[in-house]
Formats: sequence, structure tokens, C-alpha cells
Amino acid sequence: MNDPSGAARGRPGFAGTDVGAQVLAIIGLTRSFTQGEATIEVLRGIDLSIARGEIVGLLGPSGSGKSTLLQAVGLLEGGFAGSIRIADTEAAQLDSHGRTMVRRDYLGFVYQFHHLLPDFNATENVVLPLLIHGATKAEAAARARDLLTSLGLGHRLTHRPSQLSGGEQQRVAVARALANRPALVLADEPTGNLDEKTADIVLAELLRLVREQGGAALIATHNERLAAKMDRVVRLHEGRLA
Ligand code: ADP
Ligand code: MG
Repeated sequence: MNDPSGAARGRPGFAGTDVGAQVLAIIGLTRSFTQGEATIEVLRGIDLSIARGEIVGLLGPSGSGKSTLLQAVGLLEGGFAGSIRIADTEAAQLDSHGRTMVRRDYLGFVYQFHHLLPDFNATENVVLPLLIHGATKAEAAARARDLLTSLGLGHRLTHRPSQLSGGEQQRVAVARALANRPALVLADEPTGNLDEKTADIVLAELLRLVREQGGAALIATHNERLAAKMDRVVRLHEGRLA
């Protein structure tokens, strides 16, 4: 694919250029929630490494802690203990500004619900993270159009989320997550809200783009059939990875 957003080239995290052999290294990650008298230990010592360009499926039944783990890796929530290295940064120790920078430079997110901005059209939703990352307006617009077109949305560029089907909305969310060519994509049941056929198509598109860009991904799912399409699968069971 063409890469019109040359401004972003050479920036930290871009296409994983300055990322070593390991994109992610988690050691001894724990997280518990206290509710009244009770403490639930959701993560009880997670160790997980992901190599540059590797796509890892995170499997586990509902309630096993997949979202909790992804939120920790995404630096979205505090309250955990342990080490999280993203690229070459010990991210668990960073303050809020540092976390924002790591998220911006290395991570892309896809959620079960698209979380697109309702008042912006498809192109604008994808343009936004590119502008934040330093691309010019023209570069961002060209990159957004290329990405959306490669996802089969060339005829939906100016549609708002409410004018798109669920599968189309999720494809826009995929384009947004991948816009800056993050070294690591974090996806939390990205197709969990779609019918089986659409889920297969959207997941295939997500995997294709991540592979084309040379990125890595950690993708939570409780669907064995989808997990089989990934390079490797890890399973959450009683707070640990098997
Ligand atoms: P999954 O994504 O695998 O379905 P979650 O990570 O959402 O699992 O949840 C794992 C466990 O942690 C569940 O038992 C859930 O109730 C609990 N949990 C998650 N978030 C909170 C919270 N903010 N407060 C209390 N308990 C929570
Ligand atoms: Mg979840």
C-alpha cells in the first residue's frame, strides 16, 4: 500500500521501526478488585511476551480477565502491579503524560463497540489520530482514504457512523486503530458484536492489515474458530496464562 503520510515516518513506533525484537514484555502482572469485604484476584501473575510482527490470540471465557489484561497493557487503568515493557519503555512506571505518549506512538485499539465519534464521518474519524500524530491535513486525508478503500469502504468515505452497518462501523474502527501503523494493536473482542460471517470478514481484514504493516497484535476473543487464525494463542485460566 502507498504510504502518503511520510511525516509520520521515522517517528517512534511508526511501523515498529525503532522497536526491538520484542514489542511487549509483561512480567508478574497482577490486578485485583476490592468490593466491600471481598477481594477478587483477576490477574494473578501474568507473564507474556510478544515479538515484533506476531499476532497473539487471548482466549478465555467471559469474566476470565481478558479486558482487564488489555486495559493494563493499554495503560488505560492503574491499580495493577508488575512490569509492562512496550517497545523499550517500562510503561507501568510512567506518569499519565508518559502513558499518553506511549499509547500515541506504539499502540492502536479496537473495541467490541466501535466508539467512533458520531458527529464525524468515516474519513474524519480516521484522520483524527493521524493529525494528533503529526501528519499534515493532506497526508492524513490521503492515508485515511487509502485505508478505508482497502477495507472496502471507498463508497462510504463521508458516511457518519449511524449511516453505516455494524460491519462497516467496525472496519472504520480498524482503520482508525491502524492509521498510525502502531507497533502493537490491542483488540478486545473486536468482532464480538457482529454476526458470524461479518465477524470472519472483519477479523480477516484486521489481520491482513496488521501483517501488511508489520505490526503485532494482542486480540481477545472467546471464539476458538477466530483464534485459530492467529499466529499463537494464550489462554487465561484462573488469573494465569496457560
Ligand atoms: P473478560 O473480559 O474476560 O470477560 P473482565 O476482565 O471484564 O473479563 O473481568 C474479569 C473479572 O474482573 C470479572 O469477574 C469482573 O467482574 C471483574 N472486574 C472487572 N472490572 C472490575 C471492576 N472495575 N470492579 C470490580 N470487578 C471488576
Ligand atoms: Mg471483556
